[in-house]
Amino acid sequence: MATRGIALLLMLAFATAATSSDEKRLSIYSPNTNYSLTVVDNENREYVGLLELLEPLGKVSARQEGRRWKLNFNNQEAEFTLGQAKARIRGADFDLTGNFLLQNGRGLVPLTALTTLLPRFLGNPVEFHSTGRRLFVNGVFTECRAATVPTGLVVHCSAPVNPAISTEPGRLRMVFTREPLAAIETRGLQLDGKVLSQVSSQESNGAVEVNISGSVPLLASFSDGGRTITLAPAPQVESATESAQNSTASPAPNTPDAAPVNPTAGARPPWLEPGAVATQALVIIDAAHGGDDSGTVLAPKLNEKEVTLALARYLRRELQTRGMAVLMLRDADASLSQDQRAGLANSSRAAAYVCLHASADGNGVRVYTALLPTGHEDKGIFKAWASAQSSALSDSRELAAALADEIRSQNISVRALAAPLRPLNNLTHAAVAVELSALNLAQLTSPKYQQQVAAAIARGLARPRPGAGR
Ligand SMILES: [Zn+2]
Repeated sequence: MATRGIALLLMLAFATAATSSDEKRLSIYSPNTNYSLTVVDNENREYVGLLELLEPLGKVSARQEGRRWKLNFNNQEAEFTLGQAKARIRGADFDLTGNFLLQNGRGLVPLTALTTLLPRFLGNPVEFHSTGRRLFVNGVFTECRAATVPTGLVVHCSAPVNPAISTEPGRLRMVFTREPLAAIETRGLQLDGKVLSQVSSQESNGAVEVNISGSVPLLASFSDGGRTITLAPAPQVESATESAQNSTASPAPNTPDAAPVNPTAGARPPWLEPGAVATQALVIIDAAHGGDDSGTVLAPKLNEKEVTLALARYLRRELQTRGMAVLMLRDADASLSQDQRAGLANSSRAAAYVCLHASADGNGVRVYTALLPTGHEDKGIFKAWASAQSSALSDSRELAAALADEIRSQNISVRALAAPLRPLNNLTHAAVAVELSALNLAQLTSPKYQQQVAAAIARGLARPRPGAGR
């Protein structure tokens, strides 16, 4: 049931926010690596472990001798004393701006000392954004610019980015933890209030957060190798059956933070409003893998991610010629995590989701539906995320059967299987994965074969399903 799915996702979004704000973090960005460390509070000062901070940046060792703590970084000696702000680094005095701490042999220094302390060791400048607790070593930086376009907002970055994305009614949040970017400039953005009402960005707890409010559900998509994020209204799709069922359905379980989803009150998410009946169904195509994740290496110069994207583009064309709306989760060599794929798919209110894989193992086509985990009773709401598919599973199986039927009619051997294949478990609507395999690579990469399979999948998706929208 769609209402319940949305409530579960809301709970997940709030739970994630709660755990991340409980712990203070410092993020470090350097030309070779990005990492994040826990910050320790002591007498109104913030501290970080110096050994952990230096470890990814060079060769470091430390030893405790009574109240003294001796550190060696790339053959440079430093000495710190418990309870003292004065330290010795490479034979010279250094003021830590606050007392040095030792906790179980771990040497801790105040964050306020880092901009002067680190250049002593590294020989390079560092920049510290103290409000957001983010440290940039040696001028490393990614620049992102936001611009409004008639359909929403576009963010262009100078390097690929991969933010965590969460959505809730009327709001989309992106959190950049691994990317060395500053808060995105949002002053001067021309917001018309029709799609976007507010865009804000700030550095906070080792990350950059971008919050976007809109009058319609928003969807983020990636292009240009992950350098461009486009935020646009999610296609509003609702089947007539679903509207009818929602208007009589019992309310979804309430959560402390989420407004109750009441079928008669105005508190419903905008895309659940009765009357939002679409004339065409939306299909989400997810070309598996991409970016850093090449998938299976099918041949020395052929990766699975390329085959899945080619097949996805054939499928898009086949669906569009049948008058169906299509959303590609990636239309370029972009990295997307399984959670991002699930989040984007769930926020789009699609009628079906198809993930595409390719393999050099076996022959023919495999159509997968989710195999849901059991025995996770103690994991609270995370069990719900892991089995978000449960209410849509019968619809998914109907869809898988329709696809298998159409593929078989092309004299291609096909098997329908259940597998614990992510992100199928996490999707709240009909979801299948299709894997093309061929012992003969020429067949797997043949445009004619890919198009033939894509057309069969499209015909299967176009079949009316009695369970759709349940
Ligand atoms: Zn794969």
